[in-house]
Amino acid sequence: MNILLAEDDPVIARHVKEALTQEGYRVDHSDNGIDVWEKGDIGEYDAVILDLGLPDLDGLTLLRRWRRAGNAVPVLILTARGSWMERVDGFDAGADDYLPKPFRNEELLARLKALLRRAGAAPATVVDVGRFRHDEVRKTILFDGQPVELSPQEYRALLMLMADPDAVVSAYDMAHHVQGRDDDSAKNAVEAMIRRIRRKTAPDAILTRRGFGYTLGSEEP
Ligand code: CA
Repeated sequence: MNILLAEDDPVIARHVKEALTQEGYRVDHSDNGIDVWEKGDIGEYDAVILDLGLPDLDGLTLLRRWRRAGNAVPVLILTARGSWMERVDGFDAGADDYLPKPFRNEELLARLKALLRRAGAAPATVVDVGRFRHDEVRKTILFDGQPVELSPQEYRALLMLMADPDAVVSAYDMAHHVQGRDDDSAKNAVEAMIRRIRRKTAPDAILTRRGFGYTLGSEEP
């Protein structure tokens, strides 16, 4: 298995490369966006581990370019800690999975294996999160195997929650990023949208953490 590792932090890159090599992967490392874009275009990699913050060409832009050009190489994005928006954008740009920094190499290896398995068995653009499934190519979300008819805003809101199912997303953040609004009525609009999504899926498909926001996570803190 050939893996392209795109990471400009030399310490992270060295540790990841060592861990992957020990597991029998052949690793090409690149620390520069343009270089990654060119290498990934040749199509000789089984998967790409992509840090978003790369010099010369950022990871999100180069991922979008690959996808637009029909390059379906499985991509595991490395995101800054807590930066859920990067994950949502990454999802939109065509990433297959996400790993927030800092991470343990064991976790990276597990994600990578799952990614490669999915890529071998099915289109790598389908991501399962709990009872939800996102089909990136068809831009559809399934709940318990049934397609859910969603408005673009509802779709984006669900992607935001699916990006990190345990994260709690505030109504404010959701209004800002899904609806592009910050006014006082935004919170009510988000509440109404969440109610609509629940009606289309299940009452407990999205949980409310009173005073904090919304989550797909199942456990109360
Ligand atoms: Ca970086």
